[in-house]
Amino acid sequence: MNLFDVYSLFDVVPVRAKGCRVWDDKGTEYLDLYGGHAVISVGHSHPHYIAALTEQLNRIGFYSNSVVNPLQGELAQRIGKASGYEDYSLFLDNSGAESNENALKLASFHTGKDRIIAFRRSFHGRTSGAVAVTDNPAIVSPFNANHKVTFCELNDAEGVEQALQQGDVAGIIIEGIQGCGGIHVPETSFMQALERLCHTYGAVLILDEVQSGYGRTGRFFAHQWNGIRPDIITMGKGIANGFPCGGILISPQFQARKGMLGTTFGGNYLAMSAALAVLDIIEEDGLIENAYHVGEYIKFHLPASPRIKEVRGRGLMIGIEMNEDVAPLRQKLLFDYHIFTGVAGKNMIRLLAPLCLTLDEAKQFLEAFAAILKS
Ligand code: PLP
Repeated sequence: MNLFDVYSLFDVVPVRAKGCRVWDDKGTEYLDLYGGHAVISVGHSHPHYIAALTEQLNRIGFYSNSVVNPLQGELAQRIGKASGYEDYSLFLDNSGAESNENALKLASFHTGKDRIIAFRRSFHGRTSGAVAVTDNPAIVSPFNANHKVTFCELNDAEGVEQALQQGDVAGIIIEGIQGCGGIHVPETSFMQALERLCHTYGAVLILDEVQSGYGRTGRFFAHQWNGIRPDIITMGKGIANGFPCGGILISPQFQARKGMLGTTFGGNYLAMSAALAVLDIIEEDGLIENAYHVGEYIKFHLPASPRIKEVRGRGLMIGIEMNEDVAPLRQKLLFDYHIFTGVAGKNMIRLLAPLCLTLDEAKQFLEAFAAILKS
């Protein structure tokens, strides 16, 4: 049997990793500025993370959500305290898309309505509802296309209000910073308008913090730069540093009902011990502050070049938009300078490094990038 061939692959076989470094099967060392799609938050193979997972596996690996798992309650307390959302509740699942799916469902249950407002260039995942609110027709099948979704322009509060006036809107879903769509940071006045409009029209504000969350931008959640409190916040990617885990924070206005949401693997012991270890490391190593400082250092010290069109982002969520196709640049970074980077569209290099990236590692990238731009 062969693999279903849906991924474009670089010919690299990682076999070992530590911090922001990865080694392949030939012993070549790489600098990781992508964290495997923003998943490696506290660095690869942190000793505390390994110890937590190993110890947990030696005790009990899995049981279902029909018994008490104290680690789930502990994680809820810890996330509540770290994020400032202590009065919210936590529902645990397995991925970013599943978190968004649950958030959309909850918004619809809560309001009894069925339309969602999403934004141009959004990405929310590939499951049915999540992909329907994603602005990329290439990945929306006819089956997914039956949801009622209105796409508005980012930062266009008037357009959003017009859509809300139809009276059938359950919720608005927006990324803290648009990631896959090209690192677009929403304006604070716009985010505040969304919060206000949701209150006025009885819609649920859902903040997708799957990529921008957990410290990457220098705040626990990216929307905390905007001084708003959404009704639901969705999480995934870095929250368990590579152990599949997702979750949503739900404001106190929502009423839980038995069986309303559910999942087999969500909140399992291994995911919980991984997620708790991630919070320990973020706090002990000051990674939120580090992400902000090192990220801003990179942005400030990028070489001046007519080949760069614009640099966007916050902390370690950085988009370098070029006036050219970036594929050859990324190839050079990877194969000549051994640096992993990401991409958004054809013209953007996207950096989503682990939050423990050091200044020396940032300088290594900046020197390589400057040399490539000169060549
Ligand atoms: N939301 C955002 C903002 C994302 O960037 C992604 C993945 O890239 C998702 C949701 C989907 O997450 P997952 O791939 O874990 O389902």
